[in-house]
Amino acid sequence: TATAQTMNFQAEVKQLLHLMIHSLYSNRDIFLRELVSNASDACDKLRFEAIADPALFESDSELKIRVSYDKTARTITIADNGIGMSRDEAISHLGTIARSGTKEFFSSLTGDQKKDANLIGQFGVGFYSAFIVADTVTVNTRRAGLPADQGVRWSCSMSGDTAGEYSVEPITKADRGTEIVLHLREDQDELLSGFKLRSIIREYSDHILQPVVMKKEEWKDGGQVVTDEDETVNQASALWTRSKSDISDEQYAEFYKHVAHDFQDPLAWSHARVEGRHEYTQLLYVPSRAPFDMWERNARHGLKLYVRRVFIMDDAEKLLPAYLRFVRGVVDSADLPLNVSREILQESRDVDTIRSGCTKKVLSLLEDLAENQKDKFTTFWKEFGRVFKEGVGEDQANRDKVAGLLRFASTHLDTEEQSVSLADYIGRMKEGQDKIYYVTAETFKAAKNSPHLEVFRKKGIEVLLLSDRVDEWVVGNLTEFEGKPLVSVAKGGLDLGALEDEEEKKALERDEGEFKPLVDKLKASLLDRVKEVRITHRLTESPACLVSDEFDIGGNLARILKSAGQ
Ligand code: ADP
Ligand code: MG
Repeated sequence: TATAQTMNFQAEVKQLLHLMIHSLYSNRDIFLRELVSNASDACDKLRFEAIADPALFESDSELKIRVSYDKTARTITIADNGIGMSRDEAISHLGTIARSGTKEFFSSLTGDQKKDANLIGQFGVGFYSAFIVADTVTVNTRRAGLPADQGVRWSCSMSGDTAGEYSVEPITKADRGTEIVLHLREDQDELLSGFKLRSIIREYSDHILQPVVMKKEEWKDGGQVVTDEDETVNQASALWTRSKSDISDEQYAEFYKHVAHDFQDPLAWSHARVEGRHEYTQLLYVPSRAPFDMWERNARHGLKLYVRRVFIMDDAEKLLPAYLRFVRGVVDSADLPLNVSREILQESRDVDTIRSGCTKKVLSLLEDLAENQKDKFTTFWKEFGRVFKEGVGEDQANRDKVAGLLRFASTHLDTEEQSVSLADYIGRMKEGQDKIYYVTAETFKAAKNSPHLEVFRKKGIEVLLLSDRVDEWVVGNLTEFEGKPLVSVAKGGLDLGALEDEEEKKALERDEGEFKPLVDKLKASLLDRVKEVRITHRLTESPACLVSDEFDIGGNLARILKSAGQ
């Protein structure tokens, strides 16, 4: 018979385990949530694969998750009859972290336990949270479709000098699926109680689609006795199919953590059933924190897609436009075929309808926050504003709504905080002002100190201070808002129109005459470097500044393009 083989964790896993054990004690109970959540994902995956290959069900098609405990052995076991894992899958899924940005994440840890505990919650520890309560974790698993003798036992102990290693050995496992045995740490006896485990399951896993069962317990002869009868502990119905009034905020929040694999509460959500030509249910969440890998190209995004309650795929990015890639949640369609694939999604008209419906829902959710829950909107903007701005160019159909939600820094407050909406700006426009003025620069400081602003500051005209990279894209795509054109203060022979008084115009004419010889000289000596030299009253402190022609690209965009090698 083959023997156990010892293997080493990927370096990041070691680091994660160490940190977690020291920092997540106060959140101990989440270990069960994470393991039940994984068991549920495994059942979803089996049900999905079985659409194409029903033999995977073997003789057992009632998917469920079982939680049990053994007081004498001091173990808790979480078992499922889901998809299971092959040997290779166990090694790669339980011994490494495949998420993009993992290395960068770990290098950002500070060594300060309090700060890092916070960060680790943001990263999410999933399966490894088992080690919060257990010093040895044994996983017995067999992948659906493989013969009984191709099961594997994965085992890892955190005590002694084997910490940082795990072992893998072949086993025979009659039932497909995964069984996770937690050998509890010494101080965790409190968990060896049917009452305690049931209350954790109800608190954190009530929303799980599959039944979470435990053996019924009875009071007998002055003690609690475990019977042979199964009892379902959770509601075991798809949360999104329940009516809103039956779902508490806590249940919404726990469900979010399951679908988003997040450890934090969501910022806001929208739950609706859409009827009509296409029927679907959507439950969409805005997270309260940007994932650390939001800017990675291959970071996961999109919604979880179900068809008539059968899980189809994670990260269905076709269900939302890219600028809403931070949104998480579920769409359950009544009309799509069960065998729908990513390729089919690409071309499906039904999907276009769902996508535009989800987009509208998210935008009205954000509008509602902006109006009624300003603190939350501020959080949203801080975390996701730079992604959201892409929508100005990407979503022609909703351009006005997107533009209405944009927030900028401006000379009104003169701080870096982006809190000014275009409507706020218009509400503060001076008499005779008919344009929205902005300046773009590489940094906020450069924008704020731009010499182009001098005349505007003098006249008390507000200017938007744009310094995010994506801002060039915003102003390139958004030429007007509510009939007011957006105009760069750094372009062209700036015409302040009615904002200029007669005296100023006269003074300019006078100066143009008086300084003509100087201007001519400058023109001659800068001949091949500038198009034009002009007298201006735009400056009040600086002697000179560069402007670009009205139809040229601006200086900041030119710099960005140059650095991008264009
Ligand atoms: P996540 O759930 O975010 O993917 P986890 O750390 O919770 O991350 O789990 C890691 C991986 O281990 C899962 O993605 C899955 O592939 C595998 N896994 C964990 N538990 C199970 C299980 N009960 N059955 C099958 N695979 C599992
Ligand atoms: Mg998980």
